[in-house]
Amino acid sequence: MSEQGNGNGGMDMAWSDDVVTYRRALHRIPELAFQEEATRDYLEEHLTGLGLAPRRAGGTGLVVDIAGQRPGPCLAIRADMDGLPLTEETGLNFASEHPGIMHACGHDGHMAIVLALADRLVAEPMFSGTVRLIFQPAEERPPGGAQRLIAEGALDGVDEIYGLHLWADFPVGVAGIKEGAMMANADQFTVRIQGKGGHGSQPEATQDAVLIAAQTVVNLQTVVSRRVPPLEPAVVSCGTIHGGQTFNIIAETAEITGTVRTLSMDTQRLIEEEIRRIAQGTAALYGAQAELIYDKGYPAVLNHERAVAIWKERLRGLVEVIRPQPSMGGEDFAYYLQQRPGAFLFLGAKPGHGTAFPHHSPHFVIDERALPLGVEVFYRLICA
Ligand SMILES: [Zn+2]
Ligand SMILES: [Zn+2]
Repeated sequence: MSEQGNGNGGMDMAWSDDVVTYRRALHRIPELAFQEEATRDYLEEHLTGLGLAPRRAGGTGLVVDIAGQRPGPCLAIRADMDGLPLTEETGLNFASEHPGIMHACGHDGHMAIVLALADRLVAEPMFSGTVRLIFQPAEERPPGGAQRLIAEGALDGVDEIYGLHLWADFPVGVAGIKEGAMMANADQFTVRIQGKGGHGSQPEATQDAVLIAAQTVVNLQTVVSRRVPPLEPAVVSCGTIHGGQTFNIIAETAEITGTVRTLSMDTQRLIEEEIRRIAQGTAALYGAQAELIYDKGYPAVLNHERAVAIWKERLRGLVEVIRPQPSMGGEDFAYYLQQRPGAFLFLGAKPGHGTAFPHHSPHFVIDERALPLGVEVFYRLICA
């Protein structure tokens, strides 16, 4: 955000100042996954003050229903609640008051948008059926809060579900949405290499786990370049490599960890098999063994075609809607879309001036003019 960025984009909306106030209050009190208690209390107090009856769910989450003027379907809107383990370096006058924790992804804005949406829906309930607001803890850290909320019945009676992410790659006034994959399968893997340790001067008596780990990292680069079809998006990144104790001992074991990002389950399956084959094959080449532990993380966010078409239609004249490239990031909103039709949207929030820092940077800021737009993006979807 720009600190001056408190305008409302020319829209005549008294509540546009409120959404900024909510966001700044929440920005001051970031909390980590499943510890969002002060955050939950802030939201709960406000919703209760509106005459609503929020119920606690999913650990530190909240679910609240708002009734429309007539009977009709139930449409759910989700906002995620957690901050990140980062020390804020934005210099904002409403910066984090919790040392080592920061809202560096925009979740403070998501909650503020949905809280202001509650104000608006209570004041102007021009819709049929029910709107269910879901404040979800723990998006940033798998297994995340979505599955727990679903297990506790947050989607019971829900017909459709929608969500958005403030997006630092797009300017304010641009929204990105498309059918199919919006965000990736985000998996984690560990390769454990078992060699045979020994004296650094007697390599002939060993199977050097550090050498095998190094070869394995190099060989894994061929998964995407040689096994995955060129037009299929995929990432294999090795994040850590650990092995050995000291300079004159040949390591007995070594461990590599990394992440895999894909948009399709076929490619996900292919890459898991290839990593296993390469890890075991490379170790076998040197007479050692390797084991792969592959943990599937959040599945891909797959938007439903009809929901996308409806939302795009309702946004006409409000924002410029573009067809974005999928993000190779992960998002546990995916779990809701496995259960119900719906869609996820990227809402432009790139600072109008100054440098745009990526999500999860200690310098991350949004342009707050995106916030009232976010409220309108949901309100138009609900009150067509
Ligand atoms: Zn994030
Ligand atoms: Zn996020």
